Amino acid sequence: MIPASFTYRRVSTVDEALAVLAEHGEDAKVLAGGHSLLPLMKLRFATPELLVDVAPLDELRYVRVEDGTVAIGALSRYHDLHSDEVLREHAPLLAHVAGAIGDPQVRHRGTIGGSLAHADAAADLPAALLASDGVLVVRGPRGEREIPAGEFFLGPFTTPLEPDELVTEVRVPAQTGLGWAFEKFTRRSIDWAIVGVAVVGGKVGLVNMAGTPIRATATEEALASGAPIAEAAALAAEGASPVSEPHASAEYREHLARVLTKRALTTAAA
Ligand SMILES: Cc1cc2nc3c(=O)[nH]c(=O)nc-3n(C[C@H](O)[C@H](O)[C@H](O)COP(=O)(O)OP(=O)(O)OC[C@H]3O[C@@H](n4cnc5c(N)ncnc54)[C@H](O)[C@@H]3O)c2cc1C
Repeated sequence: MIPASFTYRRVSTVDEALAVLAEHGEDAKVLAGGHSLLPLMKLRFATPELLVDVAPLDELRYVRVEDGTVAIGALSRYHDLHSDEVLREHAPLLAHVAGAIGDPQVRHRGTIGGSLAHADAAADLPAALLASDGVLVVRGPRGEREIPAGEFFLGPFTTPLEPDELVTEVRVPAQTGLGWAFEKFTRRSIDWAIVGVAVVGGKVGLVNMAGTPIRATATEEALASGAPIAEAAALAAEGASPVSEPHASAEYREHLARVLTKRALTTAAA
């Protein structure tokens, strides 16, 4: 449980962070909330030579709404997102999901950018961002690019991010007035989801139903063609590939996906 030795560099601007990442490439890792990276380092699954601590970058902590788009700074912490009045009004699904992650300590350290860059299929915000048709804004030495959430989660813990790139912002179309809901089934309240379902405006994102967060497309198509909620929810596990592990078999996860989707769609429609 002791990490391999590493060098630590605290940066004070985005430009400085990008310069350090460009200089060190694959030897460096961005440190945001540290709540995924540090456990991996302690287990020696990650052995970066240099940690680039971006925590001081307050310029990446904000929620703004402009022309129907909600922009969230990548270093915004879950606690701040959950209590942000602008986010609660314009992207209530994301504000709610941020408040359902882990425990208070995790919510005071973990960042939206870190959660997305980590790309764990068991994490909550990636599925919520997928359902929200979100976009990640990424900066690196070659400039800025936008990656739709649907193209960001390539595999377990795998994204198109280059080692010298930083997620700087997350954008979603404003969800004002859309029905939304989040259902998370856990063994204990502070646990990771065995299965989670994020719904907004008839779009459905699934937590822990494959190696990446996925959309329940069969359910979405059924809803779009006018099927009743019960019928659409019965299709929630179509195309999913959940794992079996001691806490839940794949069949149990599929059952949960159907039940939780029905609950979430019912709440969202109320
Ligand atoms: C006890 C515990 C319970 C938890 N429960 C849950 C839960 O219920 N649901 C849930 O979703 N998550 C849960 N988590 C994970 C938590 O949400 C983490 O905070 C999150 O996975 C990573 O965010 P972070 O800011 O801590 O990132 P870090 O751990 O600092 O970084 C994670 C990875 O992302 C990279 N990275 C970070 N920020 C950026 C950026 N801006 N640009 C590019 N790369 C970046 C890092 O280099 C690293 O590879 C839990 C964690 C713990 C320790």
